[in-house]
Amino acid sequence: MDFRAIRKKHVNDKSIILIVDDEIVSRYTVEMLLNTEGYHLIFAEGGTEALQKAETFIPDLMLLDVMMPGMDGFEVCRRLRANPRLAELPIVMVTALDDRESRLHGIEMGADDFMTKPFDRAELRARVRSITRLNRYRRLIETEEQLVYLANYDTLTGLPNRNLLVERLRQTLDRASRNQQGVAVLSLDLDSFQIINDSIGHECGDKLLCEMAQRLTTSVAAGATVARFSGDEFAVMHESNDPVKEVSIMAQRLLSIISNPVILNGHETVVTASIGVSIYPNDGDEALQLLKNANTAMSRAKERGKNSYQFFTAEMNTFALKRLILENQLRKVLSQDELRLYYQPQIELESGRIVGVEALLRWQHPEYGLLFPSHFISVAEDMGLIIPIGEWVLRTACHQNQQWLEMGFPLLCMSVNVSSRQFKNPDLLQTVKQALIDSQLDPNLLELELTESVLMADSGNHQGAAMLAELQAMGVKIAIDDFGTGYSSLSYLKRFPVNTLKIDKAFVEDITMESEHESAITIAIIAMAHSLNLSVIAEGVENTEQWQFLEKHHCKIAQGFLFSHPLSSEEISKLLADMPNAGYFTPLNLSKNKKR
Ligand code: C2E
Ligand code: MG
Ligand code: MG
Repeated sequence: MDFRAIRKKHVNDKSIILIVDDEIVSRYTVEMLLNTEGYHLIFAEGGTEALQKAETFIPDLMLLDVMMPGMDGFEVCRRLRANPRLAELPIVMVTALDDRESRLHGIEMGADDFMTKPFDRAELRARVRSITRLNRYRRLIETEEQLVYLANYDTLTGLPNRNLLVERLRQTLDRASRNQQGVAVLSLDLDSFQIINDSIGHECGDKLLCEMAQRLTTSVAAGATVARFSGDEFAVMHESNDPVKEVSIMAQRLLSIISNPVILNGHETVVTASIGVSIYPNDGDEALQLLKNANTAMSRAKERGKNSYQFFTAEMNTFALKRLILENQLRKVLSQDELRLYYQPQIELESGRIVGVEALLRWQHPEYGLLFPSHFISVAEDMGLIIPIGEWVLRTACHQNQQWLEMGFPLLCMSVNVSSRQFKNPDLLQTVKQALIDSQLDPNLLELELTESVLMADSGNHQGAAMLAELQAMGVKIAIDDFGTGYSSLSYLKRFPVNTLKIDKAFVEDITMESEHESAITIAIIAMAHSLNLSVIAEGVENTEQWQFLEKHHCKIAQGFLFSHPLSSEEISKLLADMPNAGYFTPLNLSKNKKR
């Protein structure tokens, strides 16, 4: 914020003068006398109009005639003084009666000064000038106070902001070093606030933040300062002679108080937070360094599963540095052509034929070799890089599938994974359309895989559901990936157009021929998919026992290391070319394609 600009604007504003008089000649005279002085003049012909205009314009001065039909000047004055917004408005009463009694009555009613009609030109100008100057000065001071407030406090919650906390922390550190005390700095961030904010609306989001600010303020130890830095980011500073012990107790208390349900829009919502702690003097002796270290510890608490607190350790900085290097390298991944797609065959169990492939992303890293998605997808997601990367994946996958088709291989369905950030981006629709147009691939040969949690993030505005419906109308298929791991509620199956469920490998892993109990979830998912008329694909099939079980329970398609690891496009071409000779996948010829 540019404070000088705000102040200048205020000084340049004209003073507003409200002239109240029932006689047109008097109003005209005042106008003649003042209109060269650079004021903004407003007129009222009677008491009621005067009150309305005063309320609307908040003038710097009111010239108020006493004798008016209807509501007279005394009454106007009395009512103005009773109105908190206008109680301070400078009022000069104008009267023809130069008698002591009227003046006394005027003072009782709250007038600041008097003038008599007819006006003495010089006197009128001088008085108006002096009163408006005083009033403008007062306003300036108020503005300055407001600016100081804005520079140090968060306007939504009224808590100190980052500026003020840093200043107080510096003072506290000075004192602590003299008195050999410790200081704890907590960085606190609400978990998944963005999702809540998007789904319940910003107004409710603001209410939630105020409620949390209130809870924090009332739950910290006496003498601690709570500040709001931005969005859902808070910080707490606390001086103590045993900071490690005290802050552990405080952090636990804060986590528990935050996770008490809040009622928003009539719904009970539970919010959790992640907290990082740094301690003076162990983790630094400078305010900004302590805040940064607390923040690093907070990020670690989030990675470790949220709703927890974490003390800063020196290794975290090494970790943060590694991530920074990764981020910098990831930025160049597209321009340096380091992304690769591998394709894992999906097998129709009855025939052993390959009916589809899932495109799986790899990063051919110049130093570390082939990296798997678990090493970089979530970082790319945080950085927003997943959008251009996802676009590259879609285009490459569609082109590849069309190419196999043109090479004369049987039709394959190409499955492409879509992440949460991509799904939230309304451009996804256009990206898919463009990839299909450019590659000339039949939309029926493309399937998008979304996880349950990705779908659930759309709960607010249904934009995502509409987008999926449009894609499906074009022929593109929609699959739910890792089915069964995300949410217990199945209601979203009704809300989203879905073609396929992919049973998560965790359930397939549990399959044993001996105990149907262990395999109950897989059986239930297959049955449910059939009753909803959905296809079902089993993921992570690694042994023949699982295969036979799935076939027995009418799961039609499976994917897993038993059949093939993800392969490069050349390897898939070779596999497809060899298929008529080598035969389709059967339990007897499974030894091939073991890699990656
Ligand atoms: P996913 O979509 O559930 O993909 C299946 C994962 O299981 C793949 O891991 C695959 O290699 C692995 N897999 C396949 N068969 C077996 C098996 O028999 N046993 C076991 N234990 N694992 C098997 P990968 O390639 O490491 O991918 C991991 C995840 O990364 C994927 O899970 C997907 O969520 C994500 N991902 C991959 N490619 C992309 C992409 O292009 N975009 C996005 N947004 N995410 C991707
Ligand atoms: Mg997948
Ligand atoms: Mg999966």
